[in-house]
Amino acid sequence: GGGPAGISAAIYAARAGLSPLVVAPPMGGQLQGKGVDVENYPGMHNVTGPAVISSMREQAASFGAVFEVESVTSVDASKRPFKVHTESHIIETHAIIVATGAESNWLNVTGEYEMRGGGVSSCATCDGAAFYQKDVLVVGGGDAAMEDALVLARTSKSVTVIHRRDTFRASKILAQRIIEHPSISIRWNTTVEEILGTVLESPPSGESESEDLDLDADVGIPQKVVSGAILKDVSTGEEENISCDAVFIAIGHTPATSFLVDVVDFEPDHPGYIKTVGRTTRTSVAGIFAAGDVADNMYRQAVTSAGSGAAAALDAERWLSEEGLGNEAAEFEAELLAELMADDEGSSKVSDQYNAYEEAGGKMAGVRESVRAEL
Ligand SMILES: Cc1cc2nc3c(=O)[nH]c(=O)nc-3n(C[C@H](O)[C@H](O)[C@H](O)COP(=O)(O)OP(=O)(O)OC[C@H]3O[C@@H](n4cnc5c(N)ncnc54)[C@H](O)[C@@H]3O)c2cc1C
Repeated sequence: GGGPAGISAAIYAARAGLSPLVVAPPMGGQLQGKGVDVENYPGMHNVTGPAVISSMREQAASFGAVFEVESVTSVDASKRPFKVHTESHIIETHAIIVATGAESNWLNVTGEYEMRGGGVSSCATCDGAAFYQKDVLVVGGGDAAMEDALVLARTSKSVTVIHRRDTFRASKILAQRIIEHPSISIRWNTTVEEILGTVLESPPSGESESEDLDLDADVGIPQKVVSGAILKDVSTGEEENISCDAVFIAIGHTPATSFLVDVVDFEPDHPGYIKTVGRTTRTSVAGIFAAGDVADNMYRQAVTSAGSGAAAALDAERWLSEEGLGNEAAEFEAELLAELMADDEGSSKVSDQYNAYEEAGGKMAGVRESVRAEL
């Protein structure tokens, strides 16, 4: 995965000398999506999602991480090294960090994609503050929708929850808070048929309408902003226009983990989310780690994903060290050095007994210098 979790893992892994390969189709993940502005990533404020990703990628590449634009289709974890199947080839690796994220589910109604970043969002924590003292809609009936509505109610003028059924699927306590909240109203048995917008008078130039996630494209600013929505009462079929400034879609997420079915264990209460062991990023398979949204149905933020990506690289490095894996290049150099020394002394026995790696106390930089000098 090439979002904040995957790239952060690559930075840590590269700096630990682990030769990370980042595989994703495309790079960037959700921050690379249309209309994503980031105002809450420490050290970077008021930047676009693509700018955050671009900076992360540059940092990872500077330490030697390699990027490959490919989709992983399956993983064979029955033998080591693991075999990671992509659409075009097979990659062999000692350790895998799964950082494939969890995509927001969307309504797929008219106006939704067009106004992402212009009032349509699937992340109230990320974008709610931009609608201070405005009227907002929240679509959904589960815990996530309840949490979004409560977060938005702190800053918005009014919050209307749109739910297609006559009861919430959310936990009783959260649902009750929504029902009793003075600035939250509920539209039961109602669906959003269309999101309405106002065309900006002077739309920014160079705007891309393409769905392709090009790293260099300007995907930040929409040409239209939300002005309302067409709602439909599912019991009567009647339609009605409602005014609002933002529509938050909270109808769940789909973790990108289908390629790991029957390979790792999943969270029993959260389908598709990878189960990790305790506070680590270890999965049910030794050598496979999970980081970011793909293993986190609770926080789903760029900064928490980046943090768990770093943790996954640290976990992977420790595991590889424990298993004595991932040192092939260093071991090869040590063997070469031993052979050279054996040749010098004219004794074939020396190469059998002498272990340059141990002799160097694991300090391979010194051994590398000696090898270079010998060569
Ligand atoms: C509209 C919106 C606005 C947001 N705004 C903010 C914000 O302002 N601040 C904030 O902190 N968070 C924000 N978020 C949340 C944030 O984007 C996510 O929490 C974060 O991107 C998760 O990072 P990740 O690396 O775990 O996964 P993702 O970013 O989802 O990255 C997943 C990566 O895996 C790749 N992938 C998927 N399937 C495969 C496969 N089969 N093989 C290989 N690669 C695969 C994808 O191509 C992608 O590169 C926002 C989210 C949305 C939807």
